[in-house]
Amino acid sequence: MSKFQQRQQEISNGSHALVIGSGIAGLLAARILLNHFQHVTIVERDSLPEQPQLRPGVPQAVQSHGILVQGQRILEQLFPGLDDELIAAGAISVNWGADVLYLSSLGIAPSCPSDLITLECSRNLLEWAIRCRLKTAIRLQFLEATQVKKLLTDESQSRVIGVQVRDVLAGSHLKDEWDNSQFGELTADLIVDASGRNSSLPKWLEELGYPTPRETVIDAFLGYTTRWYNCPAHLQTDWKILCVLPNPPHQSRCGVLEPIEGNRWSLSLYGFGRDYPPNDEVGFLEFARTLHSPIIYEVVKDAKPISPVYSYRRTENRLRHYEQLSKFPEGIVALGDAVFAFNPYYGQGMTAAALSALVLDRCLNQRCRQSQNALIGFGQHFQHQLARSLKTPWLSATRSDRVWLTSEDTMTMGKPNKINQLLQQYVEEVMLLSMDSPEVHRTMIEICHMVKPPIAFFQPNIAVKVLRQAWKRKTKLSLFAQYYEPSITKHE
Ligand SMILES: Cc1cc2nc3c(=O)[nH]c(=O)nc-3n(C[C@H](O)[C@H](O)[C@H](O)COP(=O)(O)OP(=O)(O)OC[C@H]3O[C@@H](n4cnc5c(N)ncnc54)[C@H](O)[C@@H]3O)c2cc1C
Repeated sequence: MSKFQQRQQEISNGSHALVIGSGIAGLLAARILLNHFQHVTIVERDSLPEQPQLRPGVPQAVQSHGILVQGQRILEQLFPGLDDELIAAGAISVNWGADVLYLSSLGIAPSCPSDLITLECSRNLLEWAIRCRLKTAIRLQFLEATQVKKLLTDESQSRVIGVQVRDVLAGSHLKDEWDNSQFGELTADLIVDASGRNSSLPKWLEELGYPTPRETVIDAFLGYTTRWYNCPAHLQTDWKILCVLPNPPHQSRCGVLEPIEGNRWSLSLYGFGRDYPPNDEVGFLEFARTLHSPIIYEVVKDAKPISPVYSYRRTENRLRHYEQLSKFPEGIVALGDAVFAFNPYYGQGMTAAALSALVLDRCLNQRCRQSQNALIGFGQHFQHQLARSLKTPWLSATRSDRVWLTSEDTMTMGKPNKINQLLQQYVEEVMLLSMDSPEVHRTMIEICHMVKPPIAFFQPNIAVKVLRQAWKRKTKLSLFAQYYEPSITKHE
C-alpha cells in the first residue's frame, strides 16, 4: 500500500483538512485546523530535516528572518512555551526599545523603556521548533517529499474535494518520466494553499475553468544579501542589533546586523532601486562601508565569516486578489505568501502568516461545521476577511516603497494624491521627532512591529508635537498647525 493510500485510509473516519506547504504559513494554519478538524495533513514537497537546517523549498531561509513583536506574541499564544524552547535552543531575547541601535541620517534614536521583545534566531530554527511542536499532535501528519500536482473536484467542479499528489523521491531516478505508481489522491473537506510566492493555485483554477486573481505588484527592486559570521569572543556592546537605515530617495543602502543562535551574527545588506549589494566577499564588505554610517563595517570587518554571501532579488510586493473573484470553488482557501507576499525588508511575512492563521480560526469559529454544507461560501468569506486583516501592512509596505519606483511604475500606479503626500510628510516629521523623544520612538517601534495600528501616529500628544515642529521648520504641514491647535501658532 502506498503512503497515500495508507493516509487516505486513516482519514476515512472523520473530517479532514489538508495544507499544501510546510513553510511558516502552512505550519500555523495547520495548528489552527487542529482546533476544527479531526485529521490534518501537511503535504510538503521537501524532505523535512530532523535538525534546524536549510531545505530547498524555502531558499529564502538563509536570509535574515526576524519576526515582528506581534508575530512573536501570536506564536507564543498558539504554542504556549515556544519562547522558552527557542531560548533553550539558542535564540536571543531582544528588547526593541533598549537593545537596538538605530542610526539614520537624522541621528541616533534614543532608547526607550518597552516590553517589545522578540527572539532572534535563524528561520531554520524557528520553523524547526514549530514543526517539532506539531509533530507531537497525533491527529496531524506530515506527508514529506510529496508534491501537490493538481486539485480534484466533484462532478460539477464547484467543490474542491482533494488533491493529486506525487511521491517526489519515488520519481527522482526517472528524471522526466513518471509512472503512475508515484501518484496518489487524497481527499479533504478543506484545503489550504500555503505553498508560497510560487503558488500554482492560479494555474489550477484556470485548468478548472475558474477566473484567476488579478495581481498587484509593487517592486522597489530591493537586493537582499546576507552573510553569517561568528560573533567575536569577548566583544562587549550595549546593543544586540545594529540597524543602519536608508534615507529615501537619496541613500538607497541600509543594513542590519543581528544575533542568531550558536553565537553567530546574520548580517543583511540591502539596496533599493536596483542598487543591489554585490555577492562577492570584497564587494559585500565594501557595500557595508558605504552605508550612511560605517559602524556595521567597523564591527564585522574582523569577524570570521562562516557562510558564503547569499543574494536574493525576488523581493517585490505581490498581492493576488482572491477576494475580488466573482467565482471561487468551495473547499479551498489560500494564505501566506501565496496571497500576500511582502517586500521582505519590512520583516512582515511571518507575522502576516500568523495573523492569517488567526483569521482562519475566527472564520472557522463563525461556521457551524456539523455538516459539509456549513462550509458553503467559506472560501470567498475567508479571502475577504484575510484581505481586510492584511490591508494595513500591505499599505504600509507599498506606500513606503513608492519612493523607489521608476517613473514608469509611478505612471502605472498613479502619482500619490495630495493627502498621501501630506501623510508622507507627517510621517517624516514623526521620524525626526522620534530622534529626541523616547516616547515617540517607542510608538514608531510599536507601529513597525504591528503592535499598534498606524493611526497611533496621530494620537494627540504626538500630533501636537509634530505640528509644532512643522511650524518651526516651516514645512507644508505647518499650514495645518493652526487648525489642529491654534495655540501653536500663537505661541511661536
Ligand atoms: C529574502 C527574504 C527575506 C525574508 N525575511 C523575512 C523576515 O525577516 N521576516 C519575516 O517575517 N519574513 C521574511 N520573509 C518572508 C517569509 O519568508 C515568508 O513570508 C513566510 O515564511 C511565509 O511564507 P509561506 O509559508 O507562505 O511560504 P514559504 O515559506 O515559501 O513556504 C512554502 C512551502 O510550500 C512548499 N510547496 C510549494 N509548492 C508545493 C507543492 N506543489 N506541493 C507541496 N509543497 C509545496 C515549499 O516547499 C515550502 O515549504 C523573507 C522573505 C524573503 C524572500
